[in-house]
Amino acid sequence: MIQSIAFVITLAIAVYFIRKRVLRLRDNIRLGKETTITGDKGQRLKNMILVAFGQQKMFKKITPAIFHFFIYAGFLIINLEVLEFIIDGILGTHRVFAPFLGGLYPVLMNMFETLAVLVLFACVVFLVRRNVLNIARFQSAEMTKWPRLDANLILVIEVILMSAILCMNAADQLLQVRGEAHYTATGKLFFSSFLIPAFENFSNGTLIFIERFAWWFHIIGILAFAVYVTYSKHLHIFLAFPNTYFAKVEAKGHINNMPVVTHEVKSMLGLADANATPPATSGKFGAKDINDLSWQNLLAAYSCTECGRCTAECPANQTGKKLSPRKIMMDTRDRMEEVGNSIAKGGPGLADGKSLLGDYITKEEINACTSCNACVEACPVMINPLEIIVELRRYVSMEESGAPASWNSMYQNIETNFAPWKFSPSDRFNWAKEETK
Ligand code: SF4
Ligand code: SF4
Repeated sequence: MIQSIAFVITLAIAVYFIRKRVLRLRDNIRLGKETTITGDKGQRLKNMILVAFGQQKMFKKITPAIFHFFIYAGFLIINLEVLEFIIDGILGTHRVFAPFLGGLYPVLMNMFETLAVLVLFACVVFLVRRNVLNIARFQSAEMTKWPRLDANLILVIEVILMSAILCMNAADQLLQVRGEAHYTATGKLFFSSFLIPAFENFSNGTLIFIERFAWWFHIIGILAFAVYVTYSKHLHIFLAFPNTYFAKVEAKGHINNMPVVTHEVKSMLGLADANATPPATSGKFGAKDINDLSWQNLLAAYSCTECGRCTAECPANQTGKKLSPRKIMMDTRDRMEEVGNSIAKGGPGLADGKSLLGDYITKEEINACTSCNACVEACPVMINPLEIIVELRRYVSMEESGAPASWNSMYQNIETNFAPWKFSPSDRFNWAKEETK
């Protein structure tokens, strides 16, 4: 009874903190502008199933994809066992599903144990990869203390949680063999039975303590993990699904025009429909802060796994420029957090005298972008850092006239000569005249 009450209180505390954080995330994403999600819904759904659920883009790098798949499958399937933990915790039962599932129960338990071992193995491999092999994309400048700690912490937590399951099952099996009351027969559990020799000399009382401790440790660990995930880059576990659904389905080279500018240009060229209503002016071109970006851009920032695949493919980054598309996404998320926390505390929020452009992302970074889309292609969860870069550049060029001088003369040439060069359109065929002389 006391255990059930303690469990319900623990569960309620976790649910309270998760709910509070989810609402904050929703409010932060809503700081973004409304946007129209275009493209075929069927295609969006297909992207979500293939890319988020099926991990399709991860398999471009086969070895990490396989290890990542172990962790992903473990997360999806082992969590089914958590359902039994929760029911046992509330009702004060032990392995409540065992009598109902009969012979299927040990099969399922062995499957969970196999996944637990695979997850454990994959986490150790990833820890070695990050901390011993020092893969370049995990060492970039933006991977400061917290992002590195966050990545390691989650792997260590997984290792501990999976070890707790195996210890719990080993102690449980010994108690079953010794006929201890309430310990329902599960049949042989393959992987945890390797740990039995380490526990054999313990008394029943010690084994019950180990089993109960591992059970509580595991469930508290899972609940704490669920709260922690909402503050970490591991939010991608959930947000990869909406992000892939709402991601752009048009060709990568397609960049959304600004309707006001398009109308203006068409009017200048005499191509505008005289009867059409001119588009409403937005008041600002491009983006200076997060509220100028779309909510879809902000959702993408929370979905970023900080894997750095985008930065590793970025030609600007490869040639030593300051630009890192991963940092663009991390900065957008950090600014959202800053504004959201300020609003929650009754502070100035967006009016804090800071902005995404300038305080987080510099002109040097955005000007280094070649708009090549390599980052978009590389991202395993269909994030588009280029969209944010383009919006920031639009603001610098159109609101601040702050583009580099060479770009400004190119803009002027396009406006006056209809081409990036400084020659009059009437001189375009001079080269042919030279040839015929
Ligand atoms: S689009 Fe820009 S940020 Fe993305 S890879 Fe190309 S140069 Fe880098
Ligand atoms: S934007 Fe995509 S590729 Fe880049 S770090 Fe984030 S998840 Fe990885």
